[in-house]
Amino acid sequence: MISIFGSANMDLVAYTPMAPKLGETVTGRSFATVPGGKGANQAIAAARASGTGAAFIGAVGDDAFGPALRASLEDAGVDVSRLRVVPGSSGIAHIVVDDDGGNSIIVIPGANGTVTGPTPEDLDVIARSDALLLQLELPMDAVVAAARAATVPVVLTPAPARELPAELLDAVTLIVPNEHEAAAITGRTDPGEALEALLELVPEAVITLGARGAVYGSRAGERLSVPAVPVQAVDTTAAGDAFAGALAVARAEGRPSPEALRFAATAAALSVRRPGAGTSMPSRAEIDAALR
Ligand code: ATP
Repeated sequence: MISIFGSANMDLVAYTPMAPKLGETVTGRSFATVPGGKGANQAIAAARASGTGAAFIGAVGDDAFGPALRASLEDAGVDVSRLRVVPGSSGIAHIVVDDDGGNSIIVIPGANGTVTGPTPEDLDVIARSDALLLQLELPMDAVVAAARAATVPVVLTPAPARELPAELLDAVTLIVPNEHEAAAITGRTDPGEALEALLELVPEAVITLGARGAVYGSRAGERLSVPAVPVQAVDTTAAGDAFAGALAVARAEGRPSPEALRFAATAAALSVRRPGAGTSMPSRAEIDAALR
């Protein structure tokens, strides 16, 4: 079982020919509410990729989006016994997409911003899991507290890019940035150089490179290049979350690195063939079929 301590957001997406300027009103084309948030996306990815399940630890508001976010996790088979409901709004991402595909986004942390460090009950769930997945959409103090209290391997997706305190890095087993986040952390734009710099901070690192795949390294001396699985990309939203969730599952099953990374790249490729975030995560049967 994989535990995830992270964010849940409702994405409110307005599609419009042109985004309005300040003070302007425009008539849009369509509207969609899409459950997201990096924590919830990774929980759904891990639950769908695994036979052993995933537990989500986080918070939603007591607004109309809270039950919808809970249901989207439950529908994917995620254990939500540690999901709390707090007064006020759920995490919201207000997204405007114009006809050129350009977007502007307002993220309101809402309930995510109220999460403090893990409770004793949360720590029981984490201790029973094979790994803890963290991202940076919760308050940094809460993320640091969870990483430091965890007695299982900690996998960090350092997104959105933020300054990483040493006390967090000290508690991380594996870091999984995309190439922009890796460059922001290390100051190196070359993925090979960034990988070596990351390994000075944490024992293992994967840098995801979109359609160019990923690179992996460990302090133990392993270096791997992981090709992307060619697919017709429809929506790459949450490809990184699909990759991280599936990678955690494969490692929990004790698969060696080349096999675990191939499993993750296959899950991520399948997720980009479908629109949406949580809704695009492939099932274990789909991943196994694609691997065959
Ligand atoms: P997001 O922020 O949308 O979650 P990301 O920037 O964190 O994504 P990427 O590096 O874009 O993550 O992608 C993660 C992984 O997904 C890649 O390493 C690759 O294996 C897979 N992937 C991404 N885009 C494609 C694609 N077009 N075709 C096949 N695989 C892809």
